[in-house]
Amino acid sequence: MIGILKGLATTMKHALDGNTITVEYPKDAPDVEDRFRGVHKWSEQRCIWCRQCEKVCPNDTIQIVMDEDRNGEQYNLHIGQCIYCRLCEEVCPTEAIVLTENFEFVGDTKDDLAYAKEELKNVPWYEKTDPVAAREPDREAWVGEGDGEIDYQ
Ligand code: SF4
Ligand code: SF4
Repeated sequence: MIGILKGLATTMKHALDGNTITVEYPKDAPDVEDRFRGVHKWSEQRCIWCRQCEKVCPNDTIQIVMDEDRNGEQYNLHIGQCIYCRLCEEVCPTEAIVLTENFEFVGDTKDDLAYAKEELKNVPWYEKTDPVAAREPDREAWVGEGDGEIDYQ
């Protein structure tokens, strides 16, 4: 009984102190931290098809297909499987992958969120996700200066 009263007292204290931590999503968008790990963007322009991201990914979110001359053919993202560990971004030698601030996407099944690289450019929520905005405050260090517009899918 004393434990319950203590719990209620703690709840009331925080309810009345005027500090609000939660937001009324989706009416209000929550602030995300600089290093928030949302859906990742991939740049075919930067990719050298080394396959390190595919190898390091713990759950087959990234699947790459090469042709017989070892040129990159397919870069498939099964986004519904991603656990946002950021290993792919860290291992990529060319910054072709950036985990963004976007967490707002839905699908009925994980398979609904599987895309080939050509399809990604036509997915509205993916297309609109700005990879550079996700890199504040160190975005110049990340995407490089003077490289011009980077063609992330
Ligand atoms: S963030 Fe982790 S789980 Fe997601 S694609 Fe990258 S390596 Fe795979
Ligand atoms: S690690 Fe980077 S460069 Fe290598 S295949 Fe993946 S995205 Fe391309």
